[in-house]
Amino acid sequence: MSAECVFCKIARGEMGELLYEDDLSAAFADLNPQAPVHILVIPKVHAESLAHVEDEKLLGRLLAVANKLARERDLNGYRVVINTGKDGGQTVPHLHVHLLGGRTFGWPPG
Ligand code: 5GP
Ligand code: ZN
Repeated sequence: MSAECVFCKIARGEMGELLYEDDLSAAFADLNPQAPVHILVIPKVHAESLAHVEDEKLLGRLLAVANKLARERDLNGYRVVINTGKDGGQTVPHLHVHLLGGRTFGWPPG
């Protein structure tokens, strides 16, 4: 894990509160929520983006955790987003899955 990376610090429990963790992943509330439910699910190991990970077990786990957290919140549908790289709108260089719910979303995204 990177010493400087904010999401690595959060995953280690050094910053803020975790909503969920297991051997591979951690989840926490987004600092600047874009929906009533806005949770980030991340790998505990540092990886810059989706484009940097080939581990299918890890990638599957991140989606399974997003699904589990959504189910626990009894949402009427939800959206999962992985912004990847500069044009993908990624601002934090540690892979994260956005779980958004509690409102209706439009398409296409901005
Ligand atoms: P991105 O634009 O990279 O897909 O999403 C980054 C997300 O991380 C944003 O929604 C932003 O609000 C959130 N974020 C940035 N820094 C922090 C932080 O220090 N703590 C938490 N909980 N969320 C953060
Ligand atoms: Zn990191």
